[in-house]
Amino acid sequence: MGLGQRLGCSPIHLIYPGDVHLRANVLFVSSMTFSKLPPFLSEALAERGYAEPTPVQAAVLEPEAIGRDLVVSAQTGSGKTVAFGLSMANELLGDDGSMPRPGKPLALVIAPTRELALQVSRELTWLYSKAGARITTCVGGMNPSQERRALQSGASIVVGTPGRLRDHLERGVLDLSELLAIVLDEADEMLDMGFREDLEEILDATPETRRTLLFSATMPRPIEALARRYQRDALRISTVGDDRGHGDITYQAVTVSPSEIENAVVNLLRFHEAETAMLFCATRDNVRHLHATLQERGFAVVALSGEHSQSERNQALQALRDRRVRVCVATDVAARGIDLPTLSLVVHVEIPRDAETLQHRSGRTGRAGKKGTAVIIVPYPRRKRVEAMLSRARIKADWIDAPSREAIRAQDRERLLAALLEPVEYEEDDRELAERLLAERTPQDIAAALVRAHRATMPEPEELIENTPEARRAAQKERHRPGFEDIVWYRMSIGRRQNADPRWLLPLLCRRGHITRNEIGAIRIGPDETHFQVPRAIAAKFGAALERTAGSDDDEEAVVIEESKNPPREAARENRKGGKHRRPNDGPPPHRPKPHRKGPGKKFGPGGDGKPAHKRKDRKKPTRAHEKNK
Ligand code: AMP
Repeated sequence: MGLGQRLGCSPIHLIYPGDVHLRANVLFVSSMTFSKLPPFLSEALAERGYAEPTPVQAAVLEPEAIGRDLVVSAQTGSGKTVAFGLSMANELLGDDGSMPRPGKPLALVIAPTRELALQVSRELTWLYSKAGARITTCVGGMNPSQERRALQSGASIVVGTPGRLRDHLERGVLDLSELLAIVLDEADEMLDMGFREDLEEILDATPETRRTLLFSATMPRPIEALARRYQRDALRISTVGDDRGHGDITYQAVTVSPSEIENAVVNLLRFHEAETAMLFCATRDNVRHLHATLQERGFAVVALSGEHSQSERNQALQALRDRRVRVCVATDVAARGIDLPTLSLVVHVEIPRDAETLQHRSGRTGRAGKKGTAVIIVPYPRRKRVEAMLSRARIKADWIDAPSREAIRAQDRERLLAALLEPVEYEEDDRELAERLLAERTPQDIAAALVRAHRATMPEPEELIENTPEARRAAQKERHRPGFEDIVWYRMSIGRRQNADPRWLLPLLCRRGHITRNEIGAIRIGPDETHFQVPRAIAAKFGAALERTAGSDDDEEAVVIEESKNPPREAARENRKGGKHRRPNDGPPPHRPKPHRKGPGKKFGPGGDGKPAHKRKDRKKPTRAHEKNK
């Protein structure tokens, strides 16, 4: 089924504003094509393979919408950039269908973030280049003198962020006196970010005769006020209901034990092997933690959160665009407005705070006719909450278990076969080497070596606790264990790679910390470190004992035990719920807890060979070539 067939038959709501009551007029747009557009634009669309308009594009091309001011509720991913691009064509193009010679700008698009502005500029560039338009971008963080030169040499369409545009305006470089159309993209976001004054100053510098197109995902009061002040007889278009929740997104809810969220993420990534995947966390701390964990397991991954500079963000996005990395861990805010056409998997690593956020995050995939999967990771005790959220959003999700190692192995086998049976062009040199190999080994051995080499590029799947009623009860019990309502997390400098196991960790902790087994709460063993809980009431005593017992030459005493700066995820959640303790996203801790002792270890747990893991010969290097394996 084509995009237009799927989307074109959905109702488009054209709402005509009245003073108090809104008259609603619901149109059903039948499947239409781009054929009636100016030839340069329809050629550009055809070259991109866009045969049919999306609902928002169809709506702005309706006769009622031509030449009018518009207030459009549409989200990123709905094809809204092309929609306003097409909508302006009547004003911008001359009788011969081409753009007049670039001079003072004829159209201005304002977007809240640099990324979105650059994305809009890219879209308008392919759409309008055949028509001879020159698109100039003016965004914070870029070289302003270069932008000044570009503006002075003539621009047809200017795309920019509010602050930078205002700057150019005030310096007299941006002349808006001949402007025919202005677009405010993600207007709600711009007002939220405090750009109202900048927007008003820019709008006031444009001719009254201009067309004003206001695009906004939501329509709060300040947007209504802006529309009233700067638009005339505006037509409202809403397609939001059509793009959200439905799309081509399959929803899955994966239930896991709270301690296994990260392992479930690993297995989901390995099972789906998406071309691009986006993982959502609630806080920047959690983004940092998950990013580090995945990197350590060999995934090619970047992080996006408020703690990254503009240039780090750009590098991360570029790496995703040119497929050097395939996984992005992000906070909701940092991921706003990002459009990655190859994104086919969204994982809600932490449950979104409401149904709206759920849809926003999920809507990063399944865009413009492509298929996508959105997976919500649901710790057992939170199932009811997620069920309620899904039902509020009218989303049907499949409740399933996280992919097991076996399921991943089975998928890998299929993928390996497909990859290795792909036709390949060999060079003479390759053939020569092949001959020499065949002289030394059997074809079976060579093929097996090839399979092994490919397999080595894939991060190892995790062994998950089976989702049984017992496992769920154990998770519940651990959550409600008396005496552990208020806890402190500690970390030890040893993990799975050093054979960490509760069987010998518990006695070690009792010896070093002068406490009993019953005073140790949850234990989370990671690849290279272990976290555990101690009730806050005895934390001071425990800390003092650690100080005293550290420092002898005994192997076990070389293990660093310290208060954790980066507790595992469920700790953060518990703290938030209780609201009593420091929240992990409240900024850095007031003081950095010092390790009780640092020292070279000799033997890390039973079976250790006397060397710290990073010095052991047999240590498996994290594989980096995850992206090569599809
Ligand atoms: P936007 O909502 O502007 O962020 O667009 C989302 C994606 O949809 C972009 O990659 C567009 O190039 C793409 N797109 C826009 N219009 C169409 C169309 N009619 N058919 C298919 N894809 C489209």
